[in-house]
Amino acid sequence: MNTYLLTVPRCQRLLFLLITTMLSFLFIGCGGDSIRKVTVTPGKWPPPRPVQPDSPSPPVVPSPPPVTSPRPSLDSYTVVIDPGHGGKDPGARGLSREPEKNIVLKIARQVARKLKQRGVNVVMTRNSDRFISLDARATLAEQRHAHLFVSIHADATRKRTVYGATVLMGRTASFQSKRAAWLIRKSLESHDVFCRKSRQQQLRVLENHSRPAVLIECGFLTNRTDARNLNSSWYQSEIAAAIAQGIETFLTRS
Ligand code: ZN
Repeated sequence: MNTYLLTVPRCQRLLFLLITTMLSFLFIGCGGDSIRKVTVTPGKWPPPRPVQPDSPSPPVVPSPPPVTSPRPSLDSYTVVIDPGHGGKDPGARGLSREPEKNIVLKIARQVARKLKQRGVNVVMTRNSDRFISLDARATLAEQRHAHLFVSIHADATRKRTVYGATVLMGRTASFQSKRAAWLIRKSLESHDVFCRKSRQQQLRVLENHSRPAVLIECGFLTNRTDARNLNSSWYQSEIAAAIAQGIETFLTRS
C-alpha cells in the first residue's frame, strides 16, 4: 500500500479499493483469455454428439418372418370323381377328334391330382378306359360315404351354335348338392368358362345314393369352339383347376 492511501480517510480508502477492484474485473472480462468463449451455431441445437469410433455398434436383431397361416389339410374329406362313360360306351363325339370318354378321363385325372395335393381322399370310379354301370358308380359314392360325388361329362346337341358348360343336379338334390353346384359354377366362371344355367334333372348317377352330388358337362362337343377347346390340353387343365377349386371351396366351407 502506498503512502497516499495512508493519508486519506478510511472510508475514502475503502471506496478507492472497491473502484479499482471493479475496474480490474471489467478489464479482465473484456480482454482476458481466461474466460472461454462459447460459440453457438444457429440451427444446430442440440450440437452433434462426439463420435466415438471405438464404441461397439448395437447388435442387429433379425426381424421375425411374416406369420402365414398354412391352408388346412383336407384329409378328412372323401370325394368321388366319376369320369363318364368308358369302354364300350364312348359317350358323345360331335365335332371332336376324341370321344367324350377320353376327354373326361383326362380332365377327371387332373381334378383328382389337384385335390390329392390338398390332402383330399379321392376315389375314382374309373381310371382307365373301362365300362362301369351307372348303379356301380352310385354305389361307390354310398360305400365311401363321399362328402361329394362329382361326375364329369361333355355335352352334345343337334344345334351346333349351343355352347358352354353346365352344372347339373338331381331332381331331389339336397341343400349340399345345390351348394356344391353353385360353388363349382362360380369357380368355372372365375376361370372364364362360360356357364349355362344350372338345372335339376333326372340322373341316376346322382339320385341312386344319398351323398351330395353334381354332374358337370364341360362343354358341347357339337360346337366347333367348345370341341376344339375340350381337345386341347391347356383347356382341359384350366377347367380341371376350376372344378377342383370349386370342390375345395365346398369342402372348406362345410
Ligand atoms: Zn356324358
